[in-house]
Amino acid sequence: MTMLFMAPKLKASSWVSHLREQGPDIDLRVWPDDGPREEVEFILSWKHPLGEFRNYPNLKCIASLGFGVDHILRDPELPPGVPVTRLVDAAMTRAMSEYVLAAVLNHTRGFTRFLRDQGRGVWQPRVPLHPSEVRVGIMGMGTLGRDAAGTLLSQGFPVAGWSRTPKQIEGVAAFAGPEGLDPFLTRSDILVCLLPLTPATREILDRQLFARLPAGAYLINAARGDHLVEEDLLAAISGGRLSGACLDVFRTEPLPAGHPFWGHPRIVVTPHIASLTYPGAVAPQIIANYHRVRAGQAPLNAIDFEKGY
Ligand code: NDP
Repeated sequence: MTMLFMAPKLKASSWVSHLREQGPDIDLRVWPDDGPREEVEFILSWKHPLGEFRNYPNLKCIASLGFGVDHILRDPELPPGVPVTRLVDAAMTRAMSEYVLAAVLNHTRGFTRFLRDQGRGVWQPRVPLHPSEVRVGIMGMGTLGRDAAGTLLSQGFPVAGWSRTPKQIEGVAAFAGPEGLDPFLTRSDILVCLLPLTPATREILDRQLFARLPAGAYLINAARGDHLVEEDLLAAISGGRLSGACLDVFRTEPLPAGHPFWGHPRIVVTPHIASLTYPGAVAPQIIANYHRVRAGQAPLNAIDFEKGY
């Protein structure tokens, strides 16, 4: 049973050395050097060439090399009946919570403004926003959203969460479904998007949604670039509806030269680094799933195709 690494945009050497070291018995190949295709039963995927999976007739598992699976599900020729798994990792979860906290504090303490002032030699104290007065709303109460909520609560921020199905999380005001979106938005001074990208969440961060937030709200998007209608964000900021945004993900990555987000005084841009995957740390769960599949068991962390995440 061959494991095939199919992630042309990632550095294969690091993944291969960790997987070989931790799973020396695995027949691991790197696409396009795939050997006999009928022997490939387990594919590791990150932004694979669309349509490529159909060349492997005996596939038993497609494993995403990240938390998200949108890059796999967008393939119109996904082989039917093959489970798709995602990574779930405590260190990556922690890293995302750190990112969200840093973005929230950057806004409430005004560091971006002070940086601008420094560049102009301006000494201008501004009173920081107090955590207890800044209501944070997190879209997506899954692995990442829950942890981020706990981190923000521990810093004194009132936190609400919005999910597809109702949740009970201590200390978090819970909202669910389309009917819960309005009351959730109207109490979100800072809106954090940690949703998976699905047909229901694509372009959810648009003009209509911004209009339902309190005036001057702040947006943090660390999920996927396609959640956001970029032109609507620019209009909402220039019209004063939103005070600014911190973005880690973009419709086109890398963010193209000349894009209006570059150099925008109210937008913080980070290059999709909120939570990076460390091959050495996640190799054990990939190898464990390989052995499960080999033994005829269902892989762990398989996604639900109906839900799309
Ligand atoms: P999970 O699958 O654990 O959680 C998803 C959450 O979103 C759930 O609470 C789910 O609701 C909710 N949700 C899904 N669809 C809807 C909807 N239509 N309406 C309301 N709520 C919805 O995902 P993770 O927390 O692990 O990850 C979220 C995303 O973060 C990933 O898919 C990935 O795209 C992105 N990501 C970004 C990274 C970066 O570096 N920038 C790194 C890692 C991940 P319910 O609980 O009811 O199912």
